[in-house]
Amino acid sequence: MNHTSIFSSASGISFEIFPPKKWESFPNLYETLDALKELHPSFISCTYGAGGSNSKKTAEIVSYIQNQLGIEGIAHLTCAALTKDSFLSTIRAFQEKGIHNVLALRGDKPADMSEEAFAGREYKHPSELIPTLKEAGFTVAGACYPEKHFEAATMEEDIHFLKHKVEQGADFLISQLFFDNEIFYRFLEMCERAGIDVPIEAGIMPITSAKMIGTTINLSGASVPKAMADLLARYQDSPEDMRKAGIDYAITQIRELRERGVDGIHIYTMNHADVARDICAAL
Ligand code: FAD
Repeated sequence: MNHTSIFSSASGISFEIFPPKKWESFPNLYETLDALKELHPSFISCTYGAGGSNSKKTAEIVSYIQNQLGIEGIAHLTCAALTKDSFLSTIRAFQEKGIHNVLALRGDKPADMSEEAFAGREYKHPSELIPTLKEAGFTVAGACYPEKHFEAATMEEDIHFLKHKVEQGADFLISQLFFDNEIFYRFLEMCERAGIDVPIEAGIMPITSAKMIGTTINLSGASVPKAMADLLARYQDSPEDMRKAGIDYAITQIRELRERGVDGIHIYTMNHADVARDICAAL
């Protein structure tokens, strides 16, 4: 398996989902995944707690995607709380479940970890995981930030370390969400100039409720262009109209990105198959 098979689907669309809090909610998530399968994604990725708390859930879900649905599944794996032993046992557990794609991440400081423990963590950056993952036969993705990671002093510095991630063996990159395509095009140009030549998937988050936007901006640092701000002001008191306008905004973004020939579109579904379905139907 290599990264070309990840991009083999004609749709050029992939999805992110997250594990439910409770194991009892797994049947609902499997229904969501069954619905997402009908949209022919190139892959579905599943998030992982920064402290590794839901690693078993991530493995279970990605195994379902890979083995039951027959779609490429990507397990996110954060290194903030990993030791060498827990890293090796986690990737062995992935292999035993037939998982062969990993998105290698650092994760932010888990709430129950002290500043000292976070600063002294065994793996400082996900680039340190990649050579071992590659040797073990995994296809490996990395994260990238069109508006710069919040800790990087400059965009140039962030891209310098992104290039290192690719040199360590990342097969492709998935971007943080953004609402302004121009920012993504500028980022692609910077990557190209830096010699980063792996595929870069564009991260799109459909904003379907006014309350989503605050959390989304806090977590991602994405800037809000005027068109998005106008839409929020106009529809914030009308949930149905807000949902439709948010989906339309995502569709317009995706259409333009595709016209520009981007490598792929990665939709942050927030486990809402209906939103993904509406977007794919319009495309
Ligand atoms: P890094 O690559 O380590 O980058 C973090 C900072 O360190 C950047 O400023 C970078 O410039 C700098 N840096 C990188 N390498 C070096 C180096 N060698 N030396 C010095 N500085 C360096 N979080 C979760 O907890 N679970 C998830 O499932 C999850 N999924 C995500 C999926 C995507 C597509 C994205 C974009 C983010 C996701 N995150 C997730 C959030 C992510 O964990 C955070 O953004 C985190 O702060 C950085 O992770 P990273 O892998 O980009 O780290």
